[in-house]
Amino acid sequence: MNLILLAPEEITHDRLARVRDPRRLAHLREVHRARPGDRLTLGVEGGGIGRGELLSLDEHEARFALEEMGQPPPPALPVHLVLALPRPRMLARSLEHVTALGVKRITLLHTRRVEKSYWMSPELAPQKIRTHLVLGLEQARDTRLPEVELAKGFRPFVEDRLPDLLKGRRGLLAHPGMPRACPRGIEDPTLLLVGPEGGFIPWEVERLLEAGCEGIHLGPRILRVETAVTALLSRLF
Ligand code: SAH
Repeated sequence: MNLILLAPEEITHDRLARVRDPRRLAHLREVHRARPGDRLTLGVEGGGIGRGELLSLDEHEARFALEEMGQPPPPALPVHLVLALPRPRMLARSLEHVTALGVKRITLLHTRRVEKSYWMSPELAPQKIRTHLVLGLEQARDTRLPEVELAKGFRPFVEDRLPDLLKGRRGLLAHPGMPRACPRGIEDPTLLLVGPEGGFIPWEVERLLEAGCEGIHLGPRILRVETAVTALLSRLF
């Protein structure tokens, strides 16, 4: 928690912030070892970043006096990430990592090699997803939550959604064995597609290429989804 993210309703009109949830309170005590008088970095969800003086901290509540909160959050990456739905534990970590890296739009996609049971996971509950996004924001000192959408059918996604997503975006399909290497240091708005643990099946690759995506590879090593996503984003942007 390199930044304490405050919901707008946690801030009173006289610039006092009250934090009451057990996760942030425990973090303040155990990791920050915060004491009254300490000045910590705080951010307002969807808004600015600044500092606040800790006025009090006990089991139930931390109170901060906010100073200037006008600093903008770090810039977002110009990417919409389409990620084949990973297994629940990997989903949690992937959401945190990509949020920390600055992704603001995420589509979780069903593909042939995504296990159907993953769609029933409690990790997909909006509140759970939000928790992982918030952890990523706090890690990276960001305040703007990514939007996450679920696409539970591959064919409807390709037919109904993909054409719009590719308007004004460069579609990049990460798939081992594609002829082109992943480009570096691009600035174009991009739609990046990453497959499941078992990879995209050939039929899916054909549909995505047909729709206008460019196939790209990251070299001969097959990486885990969360490593591949991190490597792709850092190399692309
Ligand atoms: N067994 C699968 C690989 C799955 S890895 C196969 O051989 O196709 C999970 C996902 O990470 C892949 O679908 C791809 O999107 C991405 N990925 C991992 N390693 C990659 C590489 N070397 N090049 C391009 N994409 C890669």
